[in-house]
Amino acid sequence: MADIIRLLPDHVANQIAAGEVVQRPASVVKELLENAIDAQATEIKLIVKEAGKTLIHVIDNGFGMSETDARLSFERHATSKIKAAEDLFNLNTKGFRGEALASIAAIAHVELQTKKEAVELGTRIKIEGSTVVSQEVVTTPTGTSIAVKNLFYNIPARRNFLKSDTVELRHIIDEFQRVALAHSDIAFVLYHNGNELFNLPKSNIRQRIVNILGGKTNEKLVPVTEDTDIVKINGFVGKPEFAKKSRNEQFFFVNNRFIKSPYLHHAINAAFEGLLKEKMQPSYFIYLDVNPETIDINIHPTKTEIKFDDEHSLYAMLRATVKHSLGQFNIAPVLDFDRDSNLDTPYDYKNKQAAIPKIQVDSSFNPFADEKRISGNTTTAPRYQNYKKESTEGWESLYVGLESSSNNTTRFSGESIEFESEEVTSSLFANDEPRETLTYQLHRKYLVSSIKSGIVIIDQHRAHQRVLYEQLLKNITVSEAVSQQLLFPVTFSFSTSEIALLKEVKESLENIGFMFSNITDDTIELSGIPSNISESELQIIIEQMLNDFQGEIPDTGFSQTDVLVKSLAKSMAIRTGKKLEIAEQEALVNNLFACKEPMVSPFQKTIFITLSVDDLDKKFI
Ligand code: ADP
Ligand code: MG
Repeated sequence: MADIIRLLPDHVANQIAAGEVVQRPASVVKELLENAIDAQATEIKLIVKEAGKTLIHVIDNGFGMSETDARLSFERHATSKIKAAEDLFNLNTKGFRGEALASIAAIAHVELQTKKEAVELGTRIKIEGSTVVSQEVVTTPTGTSIAVKNLFYNIPARRNFLKSDTVELRHIIDEFQRVALAHSDIAFVLYHNGNELFNLPKSNIRQRIVNILGGKTNEKLVPVTEDTDIVKINGFVGKPEFAKKSRNEQFFFVNNRFIKSPYLHHAINAAFEGLLKEKMQPSYFIYLDVNPETIDINIHPTKTEIKFDDEHSLYAMLRATVKHSLGQFNIAPVLDFDRDSNLDTPYDYKNKQAAIPKIQVDSSFNPFADEKRISGNTTTAPRYQNYKKESTEGWESLYVGLESSSNNTTRFSGESIEFESEEVTSSLFANDEPRETLTYQLHRKYLVSSIKSGIVIIDQHRAHQRVLYEQLLKNITVSEAVSQQLLFPVTFSFSTSEIALLKEVKESLENIGFMFSNITDDTIELSGIPSNISESELQIIIEQMLNDFQGEIPDTGFSQTDVLVKSLAKSMAIRTGKKLEIAEQEALVNNLFACKEPMVSPFQKTIFITLSVDDLDKKFI
């Protein structure tokens, strides 16, 4: 039997871009899956434990390796895939550097078992930190099995650098999905800690997409095809009405290799022009087939970037093809362009009771002294630190003109803010002007209210974000939110990875008032939702949340809660453009100043500024 691996000459090796470093378990997954595909496997099994930190095991039924090749495969620059520099310009395989197995074997315990079709017995090799600890002849099925255990066991710094299992698993699922989408003619399964996460039989592309992203995906796919001299375009785009806020359903494959291309992404967006609402992202699964000689995959070590010889033509063709498909499937008339999404508010404020905080007064506080800082820019972190310290002294005094006689129903921190008794407050201001509260809404955006020293101008959207943020945080920790039972449970479809995400935060969501009646692999069913969310906004709120999660990749439990609460506060908060009744305005103002940090929004934006009578006087000179 012929041995096929040879060592690359140095000058060839040096032409190859810097070797990829194994950054995380997902990098190993990618390399092993790609090796299995290069070995022409038709069935590939991926078994992962503790997000790949303890085990990444790939089993394929490909053509296997000879005994010599098995040993050589762990040498650096040992590859069967290219022989000379010219071959780099005509690649038909995923791998070509001959570095992956060598890099992996240097930082983990690796066990390889492999056998070629024509022979009876196979080879088992164990390697720990580049050292071969055993090699033996074994009975094993045709194909290759590589188990990578205890990744980074000899580089504690790298091991400590790994993120939570949740985060690392998400990276693994991303890589798995990309490879699985690129090769629908290969069957894949993925197990994590003994649970089957994906079982994808050999199928066509459409079926593969549906199997990965969930049953509801089928109806939203519009086929895209075009065949020209320079490129064959194949695949699907999502109908515009199914567009999401997240970019996690956007895939380009070039010659069955997942790539990232902001340029081609732009071409697709251009094809969707006028069909999507602001900030909505089209879904796409686009497969380009080009002559390998016209691309250079070698420009980026992780091989997700690619250079095309004729990028401009490709752009034009892609845009035209997608546009044509959308036209053919009569997509455009479905949309309702007149709707102003600004006016759709998810928040029904009318049901809220106006709550007035008791007020503590720091009689030594001089609001004028703080004027400049309060109206200054608060977006930078150091400034925010200042505010944090000062806010507890500063803000209460701003609001001393406010009516404070009714019951205080909303208070966010019984411990850290202690309000003085009402008598003290009212006696302090007994001599003031009449204490009626004057609020006024300006341009459906700002609330203007009088205070002792002058006026305060509040951004209504940011103010509500702050109020919701603190309220939700409290609900999550003490779990006392009020839910509204839905008459009929509602069901939403999500991808497997989105469901996995939702499961992670399920408990927090329940504390906020969500009631899950059923969760399957690709759907969730809700029987109750928080009382201040309307059913019609539910989908957007959940999608926004998933989107924010994917964007932020929260690490610790704490920041995960923070991302969740921020996201909900953002999508639930009343918008600019929403008209507020006087009672609603007052409730918002009162709730804001009952917050721990009323000055900045959860996103560190200034919530209000003050103008003193003194300031005004100066303008009238
Ligand atoms: P590359 O894929 O860039 O060639 P690798 O280090 O990933 O480099 O693999 C080295 C060599 O080991 C490959 O060229 C191939 O010949 C062999 N090999 C690795 N994995 C497999 C597999 N699953 N089946 C058969 N051969 C494999
Ligand atoms: Mg490889």
